[in-house]
Amino acid sequence: MQLWHESVQEDLAAVLYTADEIQTRIAELAAQITQRCRQQGVNELVVIGILRGAVFFLSDLVRAIDLDVLIDFMSVSSYADEAVSSGTVQIRKDIAIPIKDKHVLIVEDIIDTGLTMRCLTDLLQARQPASLHVCSLLDKPARREVDCQLDYVGFTLEGAPFTVGYGLDYGDRYRNLPYIAALKPALYQK
Ligand code: IMP
Repeated sequence: MQLWHESVQEDLAAVLYTADEIQTRIAELAAQITQRCRQQGVNELVVIGILRGAVFFLSDLVRAIDLDVLIDFMSVSSYADEAVSSGTVQIRKDIAIPIKDKHVLIVEDIIDTGLTMRCLTDLLQARQPASLHVCSLLDKPARREVDCQLDYVGFTLEGAPFTVGYGLDYGDRYRNLPYIAALKPALYQK
């Protein structure tokens, strides 16, 4: 498989999930979410995407969910130009939709230490939604530092590769790759 243009190709260790594999998994996740919601009598879901890594994932996922969906976004501080967590999370942009008594699904790109998701679920639970669930495209359980809620997972990563593509970045680059790849460790283990 072609790994995009040459300067990017040199930075990547391997393609982990192809564009087709991502779409197949998203269809499965959407079917699971739709089915569970219907079983629980939930017809409307507020889907909150975490900017910016989850944008492509959210837009593909919601188009495969067969329920009424309201979409909003939140932005929280992330790793900036670094590949390690600072341990603190700051809300940069809040949602506009009130979620009290609503059924809410948080859509995230990746759960690493768990700090971001722990902070987000604590914050949103305080607004008293009828239910709150978490869906992450990727999970890196080997790096977990705190327990956090995770109800739906696209792919579980073995070990702790730093991943880019399909929304995920390193120093704001690589987001538009159509697949998910592991970055060469030499680039972030300086
Ligand atoms: P956590 O708070 O350590 O769980 O980190 C979650 C956030 O860190 C994600 O939303 C990403 O923005 C970023 N992150 C963690 N691991 C990766 C990765 O492998 N690639 C790209 N971003 C990552």
